[in-house]
Formats: sequence, structure tokens, C-alpha cells
Amino acid sequence: MSVKQTQRLKQGINSVTGGIYKIQRFCINDGPGLRTTVFFKGCQLRCKWCHNPETIPARRTFLLNHDTCTLCGRCVTVCPVNAHKIEAGTHTVDRNSCTFCGKCESICPVDAIEIAGETMSVSDVIEIIRKDQIYYAESGGGVTLSGGEPMMQPDFAGALIQECKEAGYSVYVDTNGAASPGVYNSVVKDADGILFDIKLINSRKHLEYTGMANEQILKNFRNSCPMDKDLIVRYVVIPGINDGAGDLTELCDFLEKCGFDGELELLAYHRLGLRKYASMGLDYELSAIEPPSQERMNEIQSYLRSNNLQAVYRK
Ligand code: SF4
Ligand code: SF4
Repeated sequence: MSVKQTQRLKQGINSVTGGIYKIQRFCINDGPGLRTTVFFKGCQLRCKWCHNPETIPARRTFLLNHDTCTLCGRCVTVCPVNAHKIEAGTHTVDRNSCTFCGKCESICPVDAIEIAGETMSVSDVIEIIRKDQIYYAESGGGVTLSGGEPMMQPDFAGALIQECKEAGYSVYVDTNGAASPGVYNSVVKDADGILFDIKLINSRKHLEYTGMANEQILKNFRNSCPMDKDLIVRYVVIPGINDGAGDLTELCDFLEKCGFDGELELLAYHRLGLRKYASMGLDYELSAIEPPSQERMNEIQSYLRSNNLQAVYRK
């Protein structure tokens, strides 16, 4: 390939754009070392316990924190489509008419409004990532693509991974695995590691709690095991949903049959995202579920270890 062709190709890759929720620096829980985590917008699943519901819609998302809002009315004044209303001490927003102009977000004196998501090019993202590269070598870190779900934007994810690899960064992909084999393989092929979120093994329950059956997800996981990559399973323990004896036995059996010998990271369900549901005008269906105790998490860790899995629960 000529120099000009290479330059044109590179320009093409750098100008690919995608929907990004945010880029978080100095992350310590998204793969090895210090990492820069790029949160994609859009997800195919509707997990009832999702703690980042603002990443689920592919388009931008409007959030209004009613706890912070002082009802000052400035947003009402600036909104060009009259989406805000304050009546009888109650602030409502017509999200359907919002054009995401950002005027209310800018004028709010208490940051009660957030418009989540923006369009960025690969080079925009790389520019931010580059600020952290000094920490990668020392800590064994790098970049992690997360979400939302990177598989929802395979061209953008692929182009970003390509650029990161060219710059010499380690790349991990945090995924729910819900993609066709073609899409899945095209995204993970150049990644160094995969953080694979397994929600439930039972497909009927998976459908009930995430809105999607899991046959294809588990197939993608199975196919990932022989890949020459650091494959880590993430399992969020949700009391009464996936922590029963049957659920854990199914998990052990499945991982054993796959020949999985990597780390199984246990995460305790929490309700830190609850306020976001109200901010988006949504109900949170699992409000009755309490987070698991540390004793229960330790118990599950021991059980999984007794089944020859490298289960790790980090508090
Ligand atoms: S982002 Fe713009 S259109 Fe949407 S509610 Fe705020 S001011 Fe109105
Ligand atoms: S500008 Fe902010 S604090 Fe004032 S009413 Fe709007 S959301 Fe509430």
C-alpha cells in the first residue's frame, strides 16, 4: 500500500464516529492496571438491575434530578420548545419534545440536569486516552471499551481498537456478548482481553430479567474460551434472581463444559443507580431487593472455588 493510501485509510478510521456516554480516567476495576474506560451509548439488553440506565438508549438521554432541583425556573425560561413545566411545586419535562440543545443543562445553577451522551470521532476519543498513556506502562493498564455495549457500534469499536493497538495500548472489551458471531468476532479480534458479563445461565430466566434469551450469548462465550486472550467472567450477584443453588450449579457446569480457566469476578448487586431511574422518569422494578451481604458474597465465592473456579470477590 502506498503512503498516500495508508494516510487516506488512517484518516478514514480516525473520522469514524460513535455515540459515547463518557470517558472515565484512572479506572482500577475494568481490567488489569490503571485503565481509561470508554463507555459506549446503547445496549441490546434491558437488565432490570442496570445501574447505568442512561447508557441504554442509543440516542442522547435527558436526566433531571428532582432531589437537587430547587424549582428556580431558569430552565423553563430558556427552553426553546417549552419542555419544562413547574406547576404546584412539581417540575415535569416533556422528554419527547426535547431537542437536546443543552440550554437548560448549561443554565441550571445546581447541575440538576444532565444530557447524557455525545457523538465523538475515533480521534476525539484517542486524544483523551493519550493523556493517560503514561500510566499504562507502569501499571500494566490500558483502555477498556464498556457501556452500554460496544457490540452495538461494531464499526466504531473496531476502529477505536485498531487505533489503540497501533498506539501500543492494551485493550479490553467489556461486553454482554449479545451479538451475532460475525459482529462479536469483529470487535474482539484485536483486543487483548474480554470482560464477559454473564447474567444468568438459564435462558428462560435470562429472557425474563434482561429481555433477551441467551443462547447466542453463551455460544459467543464458548467460542471465546480457546481464543488467545485474557478472558474474565463478570457475574453480578443479585439476591433471589441469580444466586440460588440451581443458578450457581448451572454456572459452574457451563463454565466447566467450556473449559474456562480464567478469573470469575463476583460483583455484589447494588442500588446506586436508583436515583437515575427517577431522573429519567422510569420506574425501578427491583426496589425490594437488598444488596447481598459480605458473608453471602464470601459464601458464593467459596462455593465457586470448591468447584475449581478462580472466583474473586473484591469488596
Ligand atoms: S435540552 Fe434544550 S430542548 Fe431539551 S429541555 Fe433542555 S432547553 Fe429544552
Ligand atoms: S434550572 Fe435547575 S434548579 Fe432551576 S428549575 Fe431547572 S432544573 Fe431546577
